[in-house]
Amino acid sequence: MRRTSKERLAEKLAFFGRFGADARGGITRPALSLPDLEARAEFRRRCTELGLEVTCDDMGNIYAVRQGTENLPGPAMGSHVDSVVNGGNYDGMLGVLAALEVLETMVRDGISTRRPVSAVIWTNEEGVRFPPAMMSSGVLTGKFDKAAVLAVKDADGVSFGEALRAGGMQGDITARLSPRNCTAYLELHIEQGPVLYESGESIGVVQGVVGMCNYTISAFGRAGHAGGTPMGRRRDALYAASKVICDLYDKLGRIGGGPVFTFGHIECRPNMHTIIPAEVSFSLDARHRDPDIMRRVVEVIEALPAEVEGCRMEYREAWSRKSTLFDPALVACVKKNADALGCAGRFMYSGPGHDAQYVQDMLPAAMIFVPSIDGLSHCADEKTSLDDCRNGVDVLLNTVLEIAGK
Ligand SMILES: [Zn+2]
Repeated sequence: MRRTSKERLAEKLAFFGRFGADARGGITRPALSLPDLEARAEFRRRCTELGLEVTCDDMGNIYAVRQGTENLPGPAMGSHVDSVVNGGNYDGMLGVLAALEVLETMVRDGISTRRPVSAVIWTNEEGVRFPPAMMSSGVLTGKFDKAAVLAVKDADGVSFGEALRAGGMQGDITARLSPRNCTAYLELHIEQGPVLYESGESIGVVQGVVGMCNYTISAFGRAGHAGGTPMGRRRDALYAASKVICDLYDKLGRIGGGPVFTFGHIECRPNMHTIIPAEVSFSLDARHRDPDIMRRVVEVIEALPAEVEGCRMEYREAWSRKSTLFDPALVACVKKNADALGCAGRFMYSGPGHDAQYVQDMLPAAMIFVPSIDGLSHCADEKTSLDDCRNGVDVLLNTVLEIAGK
């Protein structure tokens, strides 16, 4: 089995962690912002120095290719370098630096392969600056319309298309990852949950990404004076919404098999301390890999009452996504290489979404997870031990070498 360099990986993680380092000790690196562009430029500089061919497609996705001995399609690895606001240095970035370290190991150790091996940086995975998430892999795999996506504006009114042009990231459509140039896609990522950390296993062999639904639930009441309106005369939308949330916690929590659900966003109007809330909307995000369990989640939502505490209720599906199953042969190849490296490899599903799940629709794809300390992610304390990172990169290297062939 081949090994990558722990020292080189540590240097990469520290060096790239400068881009977007914020005052709160985390990383703020929105898609196509200055720190995102700086990280991309550094990636390109290092790849060019290693003698790799670097290209960019029309969605700003960057590719670095190490040619094989034959002119064939080959495996690709990658992830994203954009981050959430005050996120950590491992989400996405680890997968990109892992891909870079794999290519660097191949160059420095003189490992030649029959097929070419590529590294990919996907543009705007987080969808924080320009919604939706996984925007560019979504366009490449036909999930989103390119023109509509280019027109999406950030909070300052800058469109995604303008940001691509301004950042010099609008490349050629022919450079896109596709079945024409790629045989398999692998993504190393932090787990972003506590399963591996708590079980002490160092590698997650990801079989798929769980399906999810997202609802917007609204309560419509009546505004009134906080002092002048007797309690019995109110139609308080926040009271109704809170009752529905508690009711959903109860009912969804009783569904066997454990779907996860979150009420992460809430809007209250007019949101003034002297006014009875007239309208409250909140989000419900629910996820599970089993479509039958997701159906039961939807049944619970659809059975909610039309009126609560005198307020009219509305339940609207914002969007939903089916579970993705990764390519079984590729998943088995990851497991075999994890075992051969002596890493305890656990089969698991991803709760968070990843570019790999869209790529699976056009190419065989799979993911490798490494433990998140205390399960933390999307925060400044996000961390994975260097040994676990290195194990993940070694599994990636050996899996890719097996696919690329001698
Ligand atoms: Zn990520």
